[in-house]
Amino acid sequence: MINRRKFIRASVFTSFATIAGNKILAANVQIVGKPVVISTWDAGIAANKAAWEVLSKKGKAIDAVEKGVMVTEASQNCCVGLNAHPDRDGFVTLDASIMDDKFNCGSVAFLERIKHPISVARRVMEKTPHVMLVGVGAQQFAIAEGFPLEDQKLSPEAQKAYENWLKKSEYKPPAINIENKQGHGPFAPTRLDNGEWNHDTIGMVAMDSFGNLSGSCTTSGAGFKMRGRVGDSPIIGAGLFVDNEVGACTATGQGEDVIRVAGSHSVVELMRQGLSPEAACRKVIERIVKIKKEKAKDIQVAFLAVNKKGQVGAYAIHPGFDYAIRTNEIEKLVKSKSWFS
Ligand code: ASP
Repeated sequence: MINRRKFIRASVFTSFATIAGNKILAANVQIVGKPVVISTWDAGIAANKAAWEVLSKKGKAIDAVEKGVMVTEASQNCCVGLNAHPDRDGFVTLDASIMDDKFNCGSVAFLERIKHPISVARRVMEKTPHVMLVGVGAQQFAIAEGFPLEDQKLSPEAQKAYENWLKKSEYKPPAINIENKQGHGPFAPTRLDNGEWNHDTIGMVAMDSFGNLSGSCTTSGAGFKMRGRVGDSPIIGAGLFVDNEVGACTATGQGEDVIRVAGSHSVVELMRQGLSPEAACRKVIERIVKIKKEKAKDIQVAFLAVNKKGQVGAYAIHPGFDYAIRTNEIEKLVKSKSWFS
């Protein structure tokens, strides 16, 4: 469905080993330094490029994380933004959140026909006394703020996928339908033919040259979800959390299971206790695996985090989660460790 699987993983660790000035702290990638931006999945490479435009010119992390994920939201061939898969009633509904280094945060959920939910989330943060706006209210606010109302028509790819899904209209919450080889199951992400995971989200966290952290997360949510379903991505503390004294974390995967453990907030709190970003992500993944018991084999969740030292780390339930990293020396996709091998 999406041309996103040309990973550039090969030799990632050996190339890191040759980078002067960056300390490699563990077998997995843990960079010390700033500025740094990391984002989920391979779409993160292009998103990081846009974020880097800001960070490399000593711009603020909050601007970088907005600009970065806007690339993904506008992409023609990505399941984030208006080209994504619709809900079971045939409408694309979007969720997004943003958080800066001062606990300012904003989010939108169940937003329709707006191209850049992340920018609406930022306006919620900056121009309202609230944190979250949803549905028609969020759309009204966006229009009042000058965001154009886009066509409701599905992209040709999404239309095809929806018609295909309608043949069975299978909807079995909360399990992910990993049997669906097209990657068009009722909940994202689903396992594709090649064993990779399909996904519908980009989460990004960054530290700027001044050492300040910010994060963003934007998604079309689960493909063919129930109308009105909202996942973890727009929920501060679940899909995204930033504490400028400690670190920042974002999540992807089955939102319901991220929400029930306040995922990103939990990761940041574990970093506060001294855990590295990877160890903190792993602890929360372990918590989800323990809660889900045998159902853990059917779901994918991944966390991606950066701490105040500029160390980065990730952990997922299943293999297949990758994240993109950009620093002064590095522009790579990195394979995350996972609970199952
Ligand atoms: N976390 C998103 C949600 O549940 C989906 C994803 O990451 O693909 O809405």
